Amino acid sequence: MPPVLISCPTTGNLVPTGVNIVNRNEMGDDSRLLIACPECGRDHEWTPDDAVLAPE
Ligand SMILES: [Zn+2]
Repeated sequence: MPPVLISCPTTGNLVPTGVNIVNRNEMGDDSRLLIACPECGRDHEWTPDDAVLAPE
């Protein structure tokens, strides 16, 4: 299962969300999730539309 990343809106770097999914369809389109960002130390709300699957 690839780890799910999002792009930190503060630094622009990809950060791991701690979520692993088999495919994107497992996440509801209206899911709202919060991560404590390791890049900037803030909390970011993200949705599946923001998610990037890590390359293998
Ligand atoms: Zn951040």
